[in-house]
Amino acid sequence: MFKALAFHWFAKFSALKATMTDSCIFCKVINNEAKATVVYRDEEVTAFRDLHPVGPVHILIVPNKHIQSVNEMEEGDKSLVGHMVFTAKKIAAQEHIAEGGYRLIMNTGPNGGQTVFHMHLHLIGGDRMKHPMG
Ligand code: AMP
Ligand code: ZN
Repeated sequence: MFKALAFHWFAKFSALKATMTDSCIFCKVINNEAKATVVYRDEEVTAFRDLHPVGPVHILIVPNKHIQSVNEMEEGDKSLVGHMVFTAKKIAAQEHIAEGGYRLIMNTGPNGGQTVFHMHLHLIGGDRMKHPMG
């Protein structure tokens, strides 16, 4: 029983490693190889505080699987993105910013302002955001 469970987790970890880009900072955070303030973690996503927050609350919701950006998403990743948004909603409540509102952003590619090429969702709130965006 223990052997089967250990094998299951080893296989899962190996699969995660196989899809990881060695130089990817978010993969390192997910694998506990780089420091971050993690606020939520499950089988599909890890959420941690942004290193350079642009608001009182700024959290990144990141898939555990390395996907470069929305452009590299596949048909099978659609529910994962739904899970990222649902996780953001739960964290917003946990951080007491749900009622006041918040902004969810997924920057994609250089023109979208993406600087870390591991797909992620920004959850920003706690203050009134500027509009229009630019
Ligand atoms: P983007 O520009 O949309 O790709 O967002 C990348 C975000 O990751 C930026 O807001 C950075 O401040 C943040 N960031 C980069 N490295 C780290 C890190 N090691 N831990 C937490 N946040 C990070
Ligand atoms: Zn990665």
